[in-house]
This record gives sequence, C-alpha cells and structure tokens, in this order.
Amino acid sequence: MSMFVIDAETCTGCQLCVVACKDEHVDSDYAPWTKPQPEGGHFWVGIDKRERGTMPRLRVSFLPIMCQHCENAPCAKVCPHDAIKTRDDGIVWIDPALCNGCGLCQEACPYDVIYINEELDIAQKCTGCAHRVDEGLQPRCADACPHSSILFGEAAEAAANVQGSGTLEQFHPEYGAEPRVKWKGLPRPWIAGIVIDDAADEVIDGAEIVVADLVGDGEKTASTDAFGEFWFRGLTENRKYRVTVRKAGYAEHVAVVTTDVDCDLGTVRLTPAG
Ligand code: SF4
Ligand code: SF4
Repeated sequence: MSMFVIDAETCTGCQLCVVACKDEHVDSDYAPWTKPQPEGGHFWVGIDKRERGTMPRLRVSFLPIMCQHCENAPCAKVCPHDAIKTRDDGIVWIDPALCNGCGLCQEACPYDVIYINEELDIAQKCTGCAHRVDEGLQPRCADACPHSSILFGEAAEAAANVQGSGTLEQFHPEYGAEPRVKWKGLPRPWIAGIVIDDAADEVIDGAEIVVADLVGDGEKTASTDAFGEFWFRGLTENRKYRVTVRKAGYAEHVAVVTTDVDCDLGTVRLTPAG
C-alpha cells in the first residue's frame, strides 16, 4: 500500500512543502481528483509549530500536517452524498462532482484538515497528489522536502522496512480513525536541568541523574555535561517520574515530576555532604 511516512524529527519547518503544494494546486484543475485550490486560506499541508520547554531549555518541533488518509475515516462516514472515497492505493479523496460543500466532513475530521472552497461550493483537502502518483511521480510536498521528511509510496515503505515497523506510529491514534499516514519521531516529553554546587556556585560535571518511571519499571541514567546540563528525551506522556541527582561528596537530591508537559527542573543545587 502506497502511503506517506512523515519524520517529525528531521522537519525544520522550512515550509517548502507548503509552498510546493500551493504551486501545484492553486489555479490547477486535476479532475476527477479535485478542483483548483484557492489562493488564500487553504493549507492542504501546513506546519504545526510547537514550542516546548522554557528558556534556556527551549526546543521547537515542526509537524507537517495533512490529511491522514484514514482507513476508518469519520469524514467519509458523515458525508450525505458519498462524495468521500478511497482509492486502491489508500488515498482518500473528495469527489468534487458529488460534493456540495455542506461542511459536515469538515466538522467530522478529527485532524482539522478539510477546507471549504467558498467559490466552488466544495470541500477540499490533500489529494495525495493522486494526479502525479498516477503518472509515477511523488506528491509535490514529498518531492520538495530537502530533508526527506515526507516520504511516499515505495520510498516510505522502504523507510518503514529499514527502521522496523515498531518505530512508526499513528498521529493521535486515540481518535480511532486508523490513519494510513505513519510518523517517525513524534515529539515526546523530556526532563532536563542543570546541576550546581550550591557552596561554590559552579556547575557540576559528571553528576549522575537517574529517572525512574513510577508506574512502569523503566529507569534511565545520564550524567551532567561540562555545562552541568542533563536531558532525558523520549519519555512517556503523563507519567510520574522520580528524578534522583547524586554526586559523591554531596547530599542526594530527589524530585517527582509529571510529564504532562516537557519538564525543565531548572537549577538543582547540591549541597556538600557532611
Ligand atoms: Fe478524512 Fe480527516 Fe481522516 Fe483525512 S484526516 S481521511 S479528511 S477524517
Ligand atoms: Fe518540513 Fe520538509 Fe516541509 Fe520543510 S519541506 S517544512 S523540512 S516537511
């Protein structure tokens, strides 16, 4: 099955995919798959920018969001005109010849990726560039991405095989829509901080940090770097973790944090023991 794989870790948010999508679809009629995209207001692929953490430990994630070409598509279930169909290759498309722009699919889509073309009275969204795929070409967004963050078809399947299917996941699986678009590197919560010698007011290099999952049985260990900093990435969302900071000659520091957000412990001051 040809489908997209999106790598959220390598996307830099450069927006070339967004521009390429507009260049491909604005003013271009690709019947039967879709009518021209209007010049403004539509983002058949758009970049969701997420700022995570707080200064100075701030990170930004970029997620290229498009139709997830769902197997169990709520948009198709709600359409009173059966205008939303799935091709053999898994691309979900809205037939402009049947759609009357009532907007029910827009309300039903949990990913918020359907737009109404007011001028033509039709609903529109990513077509997977079906017109290009039929000619053996890649969708324009995949073609334009300089970091191969959007892969399609055989390339996507090859990536999936190389990485092992376990590393690919759905975006918001809790929606139950069974998206055919798969993701790599979706942002996961992190815990970070800096460790300081409270008496000397200097960073501590080589302090041991242990992060223990209080529900599961996982435990991760890291050391502070030359700047006294530590990072634990890829943690489980909404979990409680015990964070233990220790260094020979200092009193141990213990904290409990919840990963409902990325967690910057800030400055952890260790006091010399004794
Ligand atoms: Fe339909 Fe939305 Fe799923 Fe696309 S992402 S198939 S528009 S429900
Ligand atoms: Fe991200 Fe690639 Fe789109 Fe640039 S072209 S925003 S790197 S997906």
